[in-house]
Amino acid sequence: MTRVADVDEALHARQAAPAQYVAGGTTLIDLMRQDVERPERVIAINRLALRTIDAAAGGGLVLGALATNSEVAHHPRVRSEYRVLSEAILSGATTQIRNMATTAGNLLQRTRCIYFRDPHAACNKREPGSGCPAITGFNRNLAVLGTSDHCIATNPSDQNVALTALEATIEVRSAAGSRTIPIDKFYLLPADTPQRETSLQPGELIVAVTLPPMSGWRSHYLKLRDRQSYEFALASAAVAVQLDGSTIAGVRIALGGVGTIPWRAPAAEAALRGKTASRDAFREAAEIALRDARPQSDNGFKIELAKRCLTQALLEVTA
Ligand SMILES: Cc1cc2nc3c(=O)[nH]c(=O)nc-3n(C[C@H](O)[C@H](O)[C@H](O)COP(=O)(O)OP(=O)(O)OC[C@H]3O[C@@H](n4cnc5c(N)ncnc54)[C@H](O)[C@@H]3O)c2cc1C
Ligand code: SF4
Repeated sequence: MTRVADVDEALHARQAAPAQYVAGGTTLIDLMRQDVERPERVIAINRLALRTIDAAAGGGLVLGALATNSEVAHHPRVRSEYRVLSEAILSGATTQIRNMATTAGNLLQRTRCIYFRDPHAACNKREPGSGCPAITGFNRNLAVLGTSDHCIATNPSDQNVALTALEATIEVRSAAGSRTIPIDKFYLLPADTPQRETSLQPGELIVAVTLPPMSGWRSHYLKLRDRQSYEFALASAAVAVQLDGSTIAGVRIALGGVGTIPWRAPAAEAALRGKTASRDAFREAAEIALRDARPQSDNGFKIELAKRCLTQALLEVTA
């Protein structure tokens, strides 16, 4: 393990030889113990000065890549202006894990598909071309949206569903310079390359996540799961709305637990804009959001669950 003190040193160490960054370690160390990930070398970045949460030019908020999930969730501006993010983070994992887990590490957490996490099983994501036993096997917790014949794994994160509804951008550094990736360009559908999960290039270091200003919006995260704590979503909804009286002037919807990536629902948003907030309008939007869903043998129940989750989240945020 190489410990680095600043961003340039981290990039230099990464350029010198293949390696993986480690931040809180709650995903990577777990997977190394299970022999699922086998990095030749790890670069510990947890001493980098990337832990601050600062106002962004133009009124948004910049979350340092190493700001912990707890620090973000409890930050006063996140609690008041980006409530969906605070609620999403607090619905996940445990206090201890959230105290270690970082904003960037959460962006890159891996699927909870049991075959991916079993190094003795075939898995196209872990060993490209080896097959996908989940399609004919245990798939109750896997995806119904964005799947392919090569992978049906769910993106398990709560944070990233909220960041998708907030239209966050991801700030990245590499030896070649800096770039900004909108979150809707960050996650890749599995298609026939499920081993490629994001548009991040080898060696790129996430340095921050920027939230745009959300003045005039209210937002909310609703997560449905098998038990009320320490459990991943079966279905979740991150919603943000701007109301003009009871008319929906603006709306953003992202779904979790059902997609291979955090799932934005633009057609459902378009159907709601200009409508009066009502249960019927929300249910109709939920039907639209899930209309392309393709169930597997054990997870068809997620389609109705996600519709109810989204309808309820919209009712609660507009109440
Ligand atoms: C028991 C358990 C329950 C959980 N429950 C939930 C839940 O309900 N909901 C939920 O959303 N999450 C849940 N999680 C996942 C948890 O949120 C993630 O493990 C955590 O956010 C990862 O952050 P980390 O800093 O520990 O990442 P690490 O393990 O340090 O890194 C994860 C990945 O990110 C890469 N990485 C880290 N930082 C950077 C960077 N700055 N630039 C580039 N690459 C980087 C690493 O190379 C690695 O590939 C759970 C985890 C556990 C162990
Ligand atoms: S669903 Fe994806 S992660 Fe799970 S076994 Fe199939 S290829 Fe692997």
